[in-house]
Amino acid sequence: MPHMVPEPYRIKVVEPIHLTTFAEREAILAAAGYNIFFVRSKDVYIDLLTDSGTSAMSDSQWAGLMMGDEAYAFCRNYYSVKDAISDIFGFRNFVPTHQGRAAEKVLFATVVKSGDYVPSNTHFDTTRANIEAVGGHAVDLLIAEGLDPTSHHPFKGNMDVERLKDLVQDVGASKIPLAMLTLTNNSGGGQPVSLANIHAVKDVLSQHGIPLFIDACRYAENIYFIKQREEGYTDKSPLEIAREIFSHADGCTMSGKKDALVNIGGFLAMNDEGIYQRACQLLILWEGFVTYGGLAGRDLEAMARGLWEALDERYLEHRVGQVKYLADRLLERGVPIVEPPGGHAVYLDARRFLPHIPQAQLPGQSLVASLYLKGGIRAVEIGSVMFAHKDEKTGEWQYPELELVRLALPRRVYTQTHLDYVADVIIELYSKREQLHGMRYTYEPPFLRHFTARFEFV
Ligand SMILES: *Cc1c(COP(=O)(O)O)cnc(C)c1O
Repeated sequence: MPHMVPEPYRIKVVEPIHLTTFAEREAILAAAGYNIFFVRSKDVYIDLLTDSGTSAMSDSQWAGLMMGDEAYAFCRNYYSVKDAISDIFGFRNFVPTHQGRAAEKVLFATVVKSGDYVPSNTHFDTTRANIEAVGGHAVDLLIAEGLDPTSHHPFKGNMDVERLKDLVQDVGASKIPLAMLTLTNNSGGGQPVSLANIHAVKDVLSQHGIPLFIDACRYAENIYFIKQREEGYTDKSPLEIAREIFSHADGCTMSGKKDALVNIGGFLAMNDEGIYQRACQLLILWEGFVTYGGLAGRDLEAMARGLWEALDERYLEHRVGQVKYLADRLLERGVPIVEPPGGHAVYLDARRFLPHIPQAQLPGQSLVASLYLKGGIRAVEIGSVMFAHKDEKTGEWQYPELELVRLALPRRVYTQTHLDYVADVIIELYSKREQLHGMRYTYEPPFLRHFTARFEFV
């Protein structure tokens, strides 16, 4: 039996959730055009659509909301965040933003020129889009193991250092205003980056005077993997490991909706005074004054407290442990998932789950619809609906290599019983998998298809 440490918190406020009947779910899903994004939250029993902005805040964070100082300039909560950033990350300057992508927009508009290159292990989609919006090239340099769903490499989020050297060689350091590392690698399944890799990347960059910025959204989960898997870190505290990671960086972007345990918030931090001054100008234009940046004083306070709570080792052990527990329960029954699981989600491998459904009939989407019909569970397809495209020359459909269904776990929200329920539903579906049918589009929008497409079963 897979093992799980008990929740390191007790429950003080509850939010009722409601399991509809199968007949109700059939009607709800049909009315939504079999697109899970159109199902109302009240009709979902266990919502695993995303871990972003879905955390449960602590009593201390809720108390912090009451301590919001809503002065326009230099409210006290600004200093709570400033102190947390300076203590944990060691950066001298920061600007608050309403979420992660706003920090990215300000950063790239400040430092990236048209025609520049920005390498990363893997850019998250908003990061890539913000680089491309200012005419830059976002380059992914993930190690080969990171793309292999069966590789058990302990740090599948690492950057390929040789490919980084080649890029610097090819385009020249003057065309690379900064490099990034995404901790953990969200688009690559939440896989961690090792401190040895951060070191090696920084070494190459330092030789050419290129700054390193970290996309720190899930840095605390990444720290837990370093502590568990990297030699020499078992006895270090998460805070000590955080300080070591960021001592190699020149700045970071952060979505507080992930590892700052808040429902909204983010920031951009850096040491360089020049970048800070220019970022302040854009911040005032797009987000707000330099000490609130699109957030209320109370939001800043909740984020400052959340930053500290996410470094609690008992919290991290349980958090990363929940993901592993769900993965182990599925693996025990042979359900095909991406291995090893990352820090925030379990990914079902829909091609191996439903080998009788060709990719043209959207096996990932079929699995998402079936999870809802069977158990009121909301997951998200990361496969053909999101990525398949028509080849411009031949007019033929190109399907992605991986056809995944992501089960993202909100932080501190669901208990082990909920996870057991999710595992039982999936195991039951897997035992009757040949009864599941493929799907086809009834409406196929030209862009960002997954948000608005409609489907039916074949
Ligand atoms: C969520 C996320 C972002 C963007 O943050 P938002 O708060 O959603 O704007 C950037 N990078 C990574 C790795 C993320 O997971």
